[in-house]
Amino acid sequence: MGSEFDVIKRYFDRPVHRKDVLKGIGDDGALLALPPNSELVISTDTLVCGTHFLPEIDPADLAHKAVAVNLSDLAAMGAEPAWMTLAITLPGEDPAWLERFSDGLHEICQYYGVALVGGDTTRGPLSLTVTVHGHLPQGKALLRSGARIGDWIYVTGNLGDSAAGLRCLLGQLEADDESRDYLTERHLRPRPRLLAGRALRHHASSAMDLSDGLASDLGHILKASGVGAQVELSQLPMSAVLKSVVTPEQALELALAGGEDYELLFTVPEAEKGALATALAETGINHTCIGQIVAGEAIRYQNAGEPVELTLSGYDHFKESE
Ligand code: ADP
Ligand code: MG
Repeated sequence: MGSEFDVIKRYFDRPVHRKDVLKGIGDDGALLALPPNSELVISTDTLVCGTHFLPEIDPADLAHKAVAVNLSDLAAMGAEPAWMTLAITLPGEDPAWLERFSDGLHEICQYYGVALVGGDTTRGPLSLTVTVHGHLPQGKALLRSGARIGDWIYVTGNLGDSAAGLRCLLGQLEADDESRDYLTERHLRPRPRLLAGRALRHHASSAMDLSDGLASDLGHILKASGVGAQVELSQLPMSAVLKSVVTPEQALELALAGGEDYELLFTVPEAEKGALATALAETGINHTCIGQIVAGEAIRYQNAGEPVELTLSGYDHFKESE
């Protein structure tokens, strides 16, 4: 590996195709043109080797994940992604690693139309900080604080797949090859729900993305909105693959508390339900109603209408078998 300058030039400085990038990599700062009457949305996430990803991860998967988890935050705000910066700390010389990492990075950036406009390159233990910038029309952002009593609670996609995929990678879960491939792909290649987020702008009262797991993340919406929730466990969307590789109790636990789903969690007033279904159908992204906002401050779980007590914190079926 040559100087920091060579690394930037060789791996990160590629042609940018967005007209709103007036100056990208190469000056003291990036110069970007915001559309008129818009608001800027910024989100940042750090991934540290050993903490947020396994050291043996394929660098292309790592690049995908670092960008995807940030884009998921923009999706949750209803924003249009536009620009990105990357602060990367590298332990040493590994051109093959950097090659694969930067190819993966540019692939996902290109797919979602995001331009890499700057960053920082340093030496030290491997870690990455990606900051994404997006925008949306003034006053249209989806916040966590807008849920109201009576609103319906929804999630996109299926829950628990990613957590099951991680357990396959850690050797804690056995599955046939096909199931394993599906689940690990769901873990390594989360798909930010940008189209869904955009569709929600006009219909949802609140939204966030699921990174820690429904049981904990829903709490953030409830706290920000000053409300409680009733969640119907039999409605939680789970893939057939997940249900085929773990027990029903484990599936439920992964869906509620496994984490890293990167699906959207959102609330919708009764009057917007129909319009929401139409808007989301156009995106081709599944969505499932899992409960309702009620008075109070906690989550009340029920199964087929019957109240149930859940003790999610403090136990993990998979850790027990280690
Ligand atoms: P400065 O010394 O002015 O902070 P640097 O020498 O750190 O600038 O970086 C030179 C240029 O390369 C800047 O435009 C910076 O944003 C960009 N850059 C540095 N590291 C990265 C990276 N990992 N990815 C993308 N751009 C980077
Ligand atoms: Mg400078």
